[in-house]
Amino acid sequence: MKTKEYLINKQHIVYQVLKNSFKNKKTSHAYIISGSKGSPILDTAIFLAQSLVCLNKDENNLACEECINCQKIKNNAYVDYKLIEGVDLKNDVTLAIQDDFNKSSVENEDIKIYIINLIEKAPVASLNKLLKFIEEPNSNIVAIFTSNSVDSILQTIVSRCQTITLKEFMVSDLIDYLVNNNVSYEDAWLISKISNNAEKNLDLVNDVTFNVVKNQLANSLKHLGNKNDYFIVDFLIEGMKNLTENSSIELFLDMLEVCLLEAIIKQEDKEHKSVIFDEQISKISEKYQHIDHMIDDITKAKIDLLSNANKNLVFDKLLINLLRRWEPWIMKIQM
Ligand SMILES: [Zn+2]
Repeated sequence: MKTKEYLINKQHIVYQVLKNSFKNKKTSHAYIISGSKGSPILDTAIFLAQSLVCLNKDENNLACEECINCQKIKNNAYVDYKLIEGVDLKNDVTLAIQDDFNKSSVENEDIKIYIINLIEKAPVASLNKLLKFIEEPNSNIVAIFTSNSVDSILQTIVSRCQTITLKEFMVSDLIDYLVNNNVSYEDAWLISKISNNAEKNLDLVNDVTFNVVKNQLANSLKHLGNKNDYFIVDFLIEGMKNLTENSSIELFLDMLEVCLLEAIIKQEDKEHKSVIFDEQISKISEKYQHIDHMIDDITKAKIDLLSNANKNLVFDKLLINLLRRWEPWIMKIQM
């Protein structure tokens, strides 16, 4: 589906905002496109960039997504356009961009566009440096930031950008969509707790990785509810073998987090039944005192993974942190 079509059908308010500003030629110099994990924030940012340089704009001045300029943007081939991952925005990259700002534009449209994907992962100092340039009078630079959590961005940065927020979909709607596309209710529930994008979730559950990760999760939960040192051994042997890509590790940690949250709910409400792995989750809920601390450790590991840390080191750290919580006496003897 084309992004414009998606926006018209699923993100009507966002579409109206873009339409009004482009139609009235009141575009901004800095945008934040925000949305929860899985929502097409980057696609929307790219569509916005295309709308700035499209050669065949529609009646609202929005991109056709087909002309040569639109295609160049999509394929990262437009000279005055750069797509940078927030995590990569280290000092040298920032300096290179600043250097680029000072050069005149090459393409006919006389505009320079930068997308920084997931700015919450970028150093604040780098972002401030870039924004200073953009705010200069007569600047022909447009910065489009995307974010999964605007709350974690400094207010001084947010206040200098126009924020466009993609709508959240209800988990029940996401589940219905997947079930109508022949996904089991259990799988639909699990993935919809993790990612807020119906189409992307459908691709995810139909990918072989999903079942590999889910099987690893089943083993891990079984060990966690039984003997937690088996969890560590199984993870080091089987987990490391099965979860080879950073994306599959992230999916695993997301799924584990969902199940641990279910265990916390069970601690508060004994009648609560989890949609999947109910038996294992019950055991976990009875066995551990501070499941919230385990979730903290997992969240930290996910942040480390996102900043491209070495996955083996991330796991060693995660397992040591968990072990320290479970068996404090072991750690004391070792020290
Ligand atoms: Zn176009």
